[in-house]
Amino acid sequence: MQSFVQYPFTPPPGAAALRERIRGFLRDHLPEAPAAQRINCWAAPDRAFSEALGEAGFIGMIWPKRYGGHERHPLERYIVLEELLAAGAPVGLHWIADRQTGALLLRYGTEAQRQAYLPEIAKGRLYCCIGMSEPGAGSDLAAVRTRAIRTDEGWRINGQKLWTTNAHHSRLMIALVRTGAGSERQEGLTQFLIDLTLPGVAVRPIVDLAGGTEFNEVFFDNVLVPDTMRVGDEGAGWTQVTAELSLERSGPERYLSSFALFLEFVQQAGPVPDEVTANLIGRLAAELWTLRRMSMSTAAKLAAGQDPMHEAAIVKDLGTRFEQELPRAIQEVLDARIDLAGDGELVSTLSLLLQVSPSFSLRGGTAEILRGIIARGLGLR
Ligand SMILES: Cc1cc2nc3c(=O)[nH]c(=O)nc-3n(C[C@H](O)[C@H](O)[C@H](O)COP(=O)(O)OP(=O)(O)OC[C@H]3O[C@@H](n4cnc5c(N)ncnc54)[C@H](O)[C@@H]3O)c2cc1C
Repeated sequence: MQSFVQYPFTPPPGAAALRERIRGFLRDHLPEAPAAQRINCWAAPDRAFSEALGEAGFIGMIWPKRYGGHERHPLERYIVLEELLAAGAPVGLHWIADRQTGALLLRYGTEAQRQAYLPEIAKGRLYCCIGMSEPGAGSDLAAVRTRAIRTDEGWRINGQKLWTTNAHHSRLMIALVRTGAGSERQEGLTQFLIDLTLPGVAVRPIVDLAGGTEFNEVFFDNVLVPDTMRVGDEGAGWTQVTAELSLERSGPERYLSSFALFLEFVQQAGPVPDEVTANLIGRLAAELWTLRRMSMSTAAKLAAGQDPMHEAAIVKDLGTRFEQELPRAIQEVLDARIDLAGDGELVSTLSLLLQVSPSFSLRGGTAEILRGIIARGLGLR
C-alpha cells in the first residue's frame, strides 16, 4: 500500500457557497434537540427532515438528473454530509438509501429499477436498509445462508437477517442471499431488493443496551420476489457487496458520531478552560482534524473512480476508535467535578454515549476484521 494521503480534496469552485447553503438550510430546518439526541445522528429517523432535505436537493446529489439527482461533484456531497453530521441532523431514514442503495442501482441495477426508486430516494421519501448480516454470518459474511430458489413466478426467499438498522422504517432491503444450489462461501450469492411489505416478511425490533430500537431481526418465510428485483447478475453478489463496503466505511459518519458531546464539552468549558480541560480539547480537536483529512483523502480517491478499500478500513478503524475514546476521555476529566452547575445536558449525553459507543466499532465491520484488511494491504499477511 502506498502512503495514505495521496488524494488532495479539491472540490469544484462554488464549494464555499454550497457550505453556506447547507448551513442556511440547517438554520431553517434543524429541529431543536438536546445534545443527547444529536449523537449518532446518522441512525436517527425524522421523516419531515429527510423530505425537506430531499426537496432542497441534498439527497442523491451526485446522481444523474434524469433519476431525480442533481449531478453535483462527490466532494460537494462530502461537504454537505459533514455539515449535516457536525450539526447532529437526524438523517437516519434516508442515509443508507443515499449512500449505498442509489450507488448500487446506478452501477448494477436495471433501467426500470433506477427509474422506479432513485427519484423517490432523492425526494427523501423512500428508505432502505442493508441485509448482509445473519446469525453466524457477521464478520464471516460469506457464511450467508438465507436462500432464494428460482420458481416460475420469481424467487422464493427463506431465511433470516440480523442487526438490520432501521428495517422497521424502510420499505426496501438490499439483501445478499444464496441463489446457487449447493454453493458455498463467496460463490453463488446474489443481491435482491426486497420489499419489506411483502407477505412472509417479519421485522422484529432488537432492544439495545440503552433501551433503543435502532436495529432488527428480519425473517423471510417463503417470500416471493420477482426476478425484476434482482440487482446485478446471478452469482455476482459477493463482488457487488465488497464494492459497497468502501462506500460504507470511509465517510464522515465514521468519526463524527460522538461530535455532539465534544461540542457540548467545549461549550461548558467556557472561554478560559482550566489546563486539563484545555489539553483534552486540544488533543481531541487535533485527532478529529487528522481523521477528517484522512476521510477527505479517501473520499477524493473514491471520487477519482478508484477503490480505496485499505484506506477506508483505516479511516473506519481509527475513526470509530476515536468516537469511543472521546466519551471515555471526557468522563475522566468530568468525574472529578460531576457536581458542576449546569452540566445536566453534558452528563446525560456522556452517559448515553458511554452505553451506545461500544457498537460503533462493530457496525460496518469489526476492528479485528478491518485490521486484517489493513495488514493484507500492507503485505503483512
Ligand atoms: C449498531 C449496529 C448496526 C448494524 N447494522 C447492520 C445493518 O444495518 N445491516 C447488517 O447487515 N449488519 C448490521 N450490523 C452487523 C455488523 O455488521 C456485525 O455485527 C459485524 O459484522 C460483526 O458480526 P457479528 O456481530 O456476527 O460478530 P462476530 O462475527 O461473531 O464476531 C465476534 C467477535 O469475534 C471477532 N472475530 C470474528 N472473526 C474474526 C477473525 N477472523 N479474526 C479476528 N477476530 C474475529 C470479531 O472482531 C468480534 O470481536 C450492525 C451492527 C451494529 C452493532
